[in-house]
Amino acid sequence: MREFDLVIKNGIIVSEEKLSKADVGIKDGKIIEIGIHIKTNQANQIIDADGLYLFPGIIDSHVHFNEPGRSEWEGLETGSRSLAAGGATLFFDMPLNSHPPTTTEQAFHQKDAIATEKSIIDYRLWGGVVPGNIAELEKLAQCGVIGFKAFMSNSGIDDFQSADDRTLLKAMKKIADLHSILAVHAESDTITEFLSEEINSLSDNTALAFSNARPIFSEIEAVQRILAYAEATKCKVHIVHISSSQVLEPILTAKRKGLDISVETCPHYLSLTVDDLEELGAVAKCAPPLRSKQEVDNLWEAIRKEEIDVIGSDHSPSLPSMKNGNLLEAWGGISGCQTTLSVLIEEGYWQRGISLSSLAKITSANPAKRFGLYPNKGSVSIGSDADIAIVNLNEKFTLKKEDLYYKNKISPYIGKTFRGKVKTTISRGEIVYSAF
Ligand code: ZN
Repeated sequence: MREFDLVIKNGIIVSEEKLSKADVGIKDGKIIEIGIHIKTNQANQIIDADGLYLFPGIIDSHVHFNEPGRSEWEGLETGSRSLAAGGATLFFDMPLNSHPPTTTEQAFHQKDAIATEKSIIDYRLWGGVVPGNIAELEKLAQCGVIGFKAFMSNSGIDDFQSADDRTLLKAMKKIADLHSILAVHAESDTITEFLSEEINSLSDNTALAFSNARPIFSEIEAVQRILAYAEATKCKVHIVHISSSQVLEPILTAKRKGLDISVETCPHYLSLTVDDLEELGAVAKCAPPLRSKQEVDNLWEAIRKEEIDVIGSDHSPSLPSMKNGNLLEAWGGISGCQTTLSVLIEEGYWQRGISLSSLAKITSANPAKRFGLYPNKGSVSIGSDADIAIVNLNEKFTLKKEDLYYKNKISPYIGKTFRGKVKTTISRGEIVYSAF
């Protein structure tokens, strides 16, 4: 008989292919046995998951936890706690909006030391590409960054400049040599600046005006350009947070041509519209902006067709004072890392019949594969890290401000009702969240 630190009994395991009922035996942070009726007299701890679903821990490949430097916006402890409460067991922290940004080896070590101390789940760090730091990329790769991030338009923060085309090309050639990957915020700087100046001069403060100043075609223009650069440099590219399925067309064409491209969207583009932005105000402001109800539906159809690879929360918090007042001046970023799975289960599984396996794929298996961590991460299987989110699909709850673990308890989902609640999160065999 084998000894276990933890056995999860009677749960339904959600894999990217199927659902299967089994017990899961965990020892030293790893899944060592999966089977019907694992003998539990040698287990230190038992969780009865009868009627509950065991998702592979969510991998959030896109968060901004702001530490060091802007830890009053969020922090690695509060951020990782929020993720754990939402079923996540691994995150990749973006190189901005912490200060210093992760664009040098020194800044990497500074953030890494804090994350090691404070994060309650696993993490990796993104490195940044900004004008003038090409010489740092190799050192950052040696430090172990998960990839590199660049902005094609204004990042909204002065210490992280957007990459001009020459910087992008140089960086992509280098990143290809390093066998790493470039993540891009793809909006045209020229188009968004030009149109934003126009609405600023009209003082048009409506949600629709803001959305129109950052139109879908500005995303398409930037995506087409980065795809051409990917072809020229052979650089692997990950396009983050597309707001519309129209942006997918050039990406799918490039993939068919054999370019190594992946694409992300976020829970807010799958659940909120420009009308919500008008009603809720700056709490729902992000870039690219929220679109129409039709765009939300079209993105879900793209998920059904497996045209979107990864869901990232793009958790981009700020101080409450930065979310007050004028929509045009407010901080552009949505706090959402705690609610990803609940949003996807409610909007995808319950409202649109998207399979649980598809959700496990885009939230865990796919990011693990894309970033070279599979099957150690991204799968509930023997030999994998014991990273598991135990979910009650039928439990209905209305999100309250005090449920949030964010440093600043701001969310466009406060007051919204979801079916699908994370009950327990296990990160490398350790219970990091429990709602029982
Ligand atoms: Zn972001």
